[in-house]
Amino acid sequence: MRLFVIIVLIMPGIVFCGQKDPYAAKRDRMVDTQIIARGISDSGTLQAMRKVPRHLFVPALYASEAYSDRPLPIGYSQTISQPFIVAYMTQLVRPSRGKTALEIGTGSGYQAAVLAEIVDTVYSIEIIPELARESAARLKVLGYRNIVTKYGDGYLGWPEHAPFDIIIVTAAADHIPQLLREQLAEGGRLVMPVGNPAFVQELVVLSKRNGRIREQRLEPVRFVPLRRLKEN
Ligand code: SAH
Repeated sequence: MRLFVIIVLIMPGIVFCGQKDPYAAKRDRMVDTQIIARGISDSGTLQAMRKVPRHLFVPALYASEAYSDRPLPIGYSQTISQPFIVAYMTQLVRPSRGKTALEIGTGSGYQAAVLAEIVDTVYSIEIIPELARESAARLKVLGYRNIVTKYGDGYLGWPEHAPFDIIIVTAAADHIPQLLREQLAEGGRLVMPVGNPAFVQELVVLSKRNGRIREQRLEPVRFVPLRRLKEN
């Protein structure tokens, strides 16, 4: 009798766990066909992409599209990047435990969550107050305690928490802000889309060694423009 009661009590839990994430299979397929197939091999990045529930970062209307091979609107004329681009930028900054990251352009919070699965702490800044509020609430509900968000102009970086081992800028400008270069730690890496914000940009990676910065120009990409707050 007692055994029966225990089984009855735990069965719904097992059934519930099994159905907890109806998108898990789609997410695995996304990683296999869009990310590994295009050459991403960093194990931390792949694990994070398999884990973070991207469908919870897009408007409910687009949940069924969350794992498709394209960017999606997140409101306020902004977009969440295509899954491959998130994985590519994540691998480029060489994330690992023990590192601290700064993201400019929290948007939905998805890129921050992917990084937070790997590094110790992610600081993320968003310039649209509504998006800043929504993503902070979402990340809290999902239990990301190692992401610190704020509303503000990321052009200025976040000097109180600098230097950063990783800086990811997810909005485009025609140059890399000087303050972000300065806030990059020794041995650190920064990735940002640089070029004409209205057209196509190039992904640029900066790496700092012995105080000197090396610059690499990579793939053409398209991002929404980096904005500025008027008072700055
Ligand atoms: N990383 C996001 C995608 C963001 S789209 C995600 O994973 O969903 C780019 C974001 O950068 C937009 O939300 C935009 O409002 C924000 N942004 C633009 N200029 C900014 C600035 N100067 N500081 C902080 N955020 C900025």
